[in-house]
Amino acid sequence: MATVTAPTTETEFTRIPHPAPIADAARREALADPGFGKLFSDHMVSIGWSDGQGWHSPTVGPRAPVTLDPAAAVLHYAQEIFEGLKAYELADGGIALFRPEANAARFNNSAARLAMPNMPEDLFVAAIRELVLADRDWFPSVQGGSLYLRPFMFATEAFLGVRPAKEYKFLVIASPVGNYFKSDGPAVSIWVSEDYTRAAPGGTGAAKCGGNYAASLVPMGEALAKGHDQVVFLDAAERKWIEELGGMNLFFVFADGSIVTPPLGGTILPGITRDSLIALSRDEGLTVREERYSLDQWRDDAESGRLIETMACGTAAVVTAVGRVAGKHGEFTIGSGGPGQLTQKLRQRLVAIQRGEAPDPHGWVKRLV
Ligand SMILES: *Cc1c(COP(=O)(O)O)cnc(C)c1O
Repeated sequence: MATVTAPTTETEFTRIPHPAPIADAARREALADPGFGKLFSDHMVSIGWSDGQGWHSPTVGPRAPVTLDPAAAVLHYAQEIFEGLKAYELADGGIALFRPEANAARFNNSAARLAMPNMPEDLFVAAIRELVLADRDWFPSVQGGSLYLRPFMFATEAFLGVRPAKEYKFLVIASPVGNYFKSDGPAVSIWVSEDYTRAAPGGTGAAKCGGNYAASLVPMGEALAKGHDQVVFLDAAERKWIEELGGMNLFFVFADGSIVTPPLGGTILPGITRDSLIALSRDEGLTVREERYSLDQWRDDAESGRLIETMACGTAAVVTAVGRVAGKHGEFTIGSGGPGQLTQKLRQRLVAIQRGEAPDPHGWVKRLV
């Protein structure tokens, strides 16, 4: 990978205001019920990368379709990675991001695994800042709403040989969102995928790449067809150990107050929510172990009452209780089948920090305004 001189936060973005943004009244109506991932703001950030120039032409401009050569490498060999984070409106009218440097670092780890160029962390955060400021009017008016940001990078070089591309595009788009699941709603029901796995040792499981999601759609479809909300994957080698959901990490809460979460090791996506919940649980004085936990043990512990809660977590849905687990070999209920106490408490603590309503002892909140 060619090394490039790193642009810094002094990087000048070319700013092109949208010539015909959505009318105020229509925008306000849409923002009252944004749903998740179906409404988009007026602008986007675009930055190019080429072997010769490195990162170039940072622009925040009107959101518009992307033109690609039909031979663009992403369309053939799936060199694509992404991130997901939220901007929050604070009580005093300010705007903040939650741990964007962690997203920047993970983006670069994903880039390295997919043989894509490294992006300076300050350029990544500056790009997000530019878009949030351009689309400040796009924060949802619903309770629990936020502006979901989707930075992503893909290979644009027109070349059908198999090697890392020499040209890429980095874009950031923004989507006003409400709650992913209905607020503090009932716990989700999950389906154990025993025929399909998400990630194998040595594969791309720890990278946030579109390809992982493409591979998860059939097992996810199976879960939905059987009446469940999500799919949970087992490890690819032994088909025994719990890994994660298609897009959320898992925590197991025991009656003795201890917590277990599957260890990172290349096949699990290192979630920033996961990392934050480990820290918040330890702040509460709870013991958190990062260790393997098997499907059989999960069932036995749920049935004996040793396990009282299971939480799924990720930026989109924050923290959600798992109430029911089903697979080829039967099903079991976790606790009462509804959201448990620790799940609710940790969710509230995390959300309060993200929204600037509680002290931020770990320095996670980055104010933009
Ligand atoms: C993004 C993602 C998560 C959650 O990560 P957060 O940083 O907490 O949003 C978990 N699993 C997968 C597969 C993901 O892509």
